[in-house]
Amino acid sequence: MKTVDQLTELFRQQGLRVTPQRQAIFGLLHGDDRHPTVESLYEAAQARMPTISLKTVYQTVNDLAAMGEVVVLDLGTGSYRVDPNVEDEHHHLVCTRCGKVRDVPLDLPDVHLPARSRRGFTVSAVEINFRGLCDECAAQPA
Ligand SMILES: [Zn+2]
Ligand SMILES: [Zn+2]
Repeated sequence: MKTVDQLTELFRQQGLRVTPQRQAIFGLLHGDDRHPTVESLYEAAQARMPTISLKTVYQTVNDLAAMGEVVVLDLGTGSYRVDPNVEDEHHHLVCTRCGKVRDVPLDLPDVHLPARSRRGFTVSAVEINFRGLCDECAAQPA
């Protein structure tokens, strides 16, 4: 993901207003590989900037997603997850107990569906989620 300065520049080029609140969100997302939920981003942003609203966080994430700077994922953990890693193609490890998400760089041989199975679909992406327990959850009694 781009740095706060690069994103500020990009937003201005698109004619979008860049506020300190938005910059705080850029900073929180940059280098975060935990795939935060919008709610957890909001909490972290509020700690730095008590006046920030949940709406601003949603709006900023939506703008970033529309520009292709983050991807918003539904990995079945109950909340949308914001993924700032748009540079490296990757798949995900998902903890079914605590919802932890981690990137897995994985070079899979091209997965092709035979035409018969595609049912007329044009396939543009393949996503693989490895589900199970993370190390912390596995170490705890159920
Ligand atoms: Zn876990
Ligand atoms: Zn990811």
